[in-house]
Amino acid sequence: MRPDPRSPDPRSLGPRSPGAETAAPYPDTFYSRTLADARRRPALTGRVSVECAVIGAGFAGVFTALSLARAGMRVALIEAQAVGWGASGRNGGFVSDGFASGAAAIRRRVGAAQAEALQALSSEGVEILRHEIATLAIAGADPVPGILRLRRYDRSEDLRADATPEAPYLDQAAIRRHLETARYKHGIAERTAFHIHPLNTLRALVAEVERLGGLVFEQSPVTGADLDGPLKVLTTPAGRIEAPRVVLATGGYTGPLVPRLRRAILPIATYVMLSEPAPDLLAQAIRTRMAVGDDRRAGDYYRLVQDGTRLLWGGRITTHAASPAGIGRALRAEMLGVYPQLGPLKTDLVWSGLMAYARHRMPQIGPLQPGVWHVTGFGGHGLNTTAIGGRVTAEAILGTSDRVALFAPFGLDWAGGPVGLAAAQATYWALQVQDWWRERKEA
Ligand SMILES: Cc1cc2nc3c(=O)[nH]c(=O)nc-3n(C[C@H](O)[C@H](O)[C@H](O)COP(=O)(O)OP(=O)(O)OC[C@H]3O[C@@H](n4cnc5c(N)ncnc54)[C@H](O)[C@@H]3O)c2cc1C
Repeated sequence: MRPDPRSPDPRSLGPRSPGAETAAPYPDTFYSRTLADARRRPALTGRVSVECAVIGAGFAGVFTALSLARAGMRVALIEAQAVGWGASGRNGGFVSDGFASGAAAIRRRVGAAQAEALQALSSEGVEILRHEIATLAIAGADPVPGILRLRRYDRSEDLRADATPEAPYLDQAAIRRHLETARYKHGIAERTAFHIHPLNTLRALVAEVERLGGLVFEQSPVTGADLDGPLKVLTTPAGRIEAPRVVLATGGYTGPLVPRLRRAILPIATYVMLSEPAPDLLAQAIRTRMAVGDDRRAGDYYRLVQDGTRLLWGGRITTHAASPAGIGRALRAEMLGVYPQLGPLKTDLVWSGLMAYARHRMPQIGPLQPGVWHVTGFGGHGLNTTAIGGRVTAEAILGTSDRVALFAPFGLDWAGGPVGLAAAQATYWALQVQDWWRERKEA
């Protein structure tokens, strides 16, 4: 039967955001094309007083504001663009425990006991997201359980040692039941991890902040900040907010507002592509709805989306703006290196986003000066860590716990400016070479 040309194809993407009447002005991504709720928020005008002003409406700012609003505090979220416009609305959607800095590096810096406490916080972050999606019944969050963490070379001891009943070890035969490729040798199935549509999730959390009485302003870049007195004053092009408390949650888009914060962050770009709908072709390669990531330093991560009809594939990092077309070709080459059978698969969209990295690769969460907190530096592992980062910051502001002190050893070290960026790019290339060499040697 021929399809009725008037009925929309459920696999087609929605309108491109910037030109659409209802969608917010997001970059063109899978997520902005599949918004469950496209409401816009007003820009800040005039003078507003609140008990706490949060700058940046990514997950870090939104989780902080949500915890404060739940405790009865009058909060305002001030966003330069649109809620979730930054990394939070463009990412891979993988939710798993841990931090961007590996467990071993954390142990070396703070010792085993504090590393264990931090690991527990990172798991709590996973549960916060799971809980919010379930209890708020978030439309379009589309949580799907399971992430396969796979290794491309032939050594398994540490993976076997890490395996637990919730995260069983997989040998190559077990992997091949899910994935039609010989590229992966070993892995772990993280059953408590899951993946989501991050932008729909974030927008629903913002709606909850509003339901609790919070104010949300879009298209309102904070261009001035007087943070020294007991009453802080933030200015935007058309308004001003006064509050005794301010939280800076500006991620990889942190500008010169607070130079010390800007100097502590390296903005690193990373990339995602989305395939055309091709369920039959994709089924020749990927037979699981679990997400997949390999354990190289900046490895591939991918998952099927839109009911398994499209492939969302992420990877690569750069410290300079790279052309999406060139990066799209590089991501495609990576994909074909794993699944040559996907040769005919076309790419519909490629996009990028900026992550905030500290030199120590841990979140930077804590007091900046009296009445001012920073919640940033979540790197490429931001979904669980922003959730717990926002919660512990709110607890510190409310005086209900000092769990934020666990992050104190990871301060606002100078990230090295342009030299730091060049060093980060060189380190990434060096690690890529090491990964390539190890794969060849141990395959
Ligand atoms: C492509 C990509 C894939 C990723 N994949 C994953 C993944 O699968 N799993 C995972 O855990 N993590 C992933 N990450 C990392 C994760 O998305 C981030 O760590 C996390 O979203 C950071 O949240 P944030 O709130 O700190 O920053 P952001 O989401 O970037 O939010 C910061 C906000 O602050 C606003 N802002 C900045 N300056 C001002 C100002 N002066 N005034 C007002 N507003 C301002 C910006 O407009 C922005 O909206 C990925 C990141 C990228 C880019």
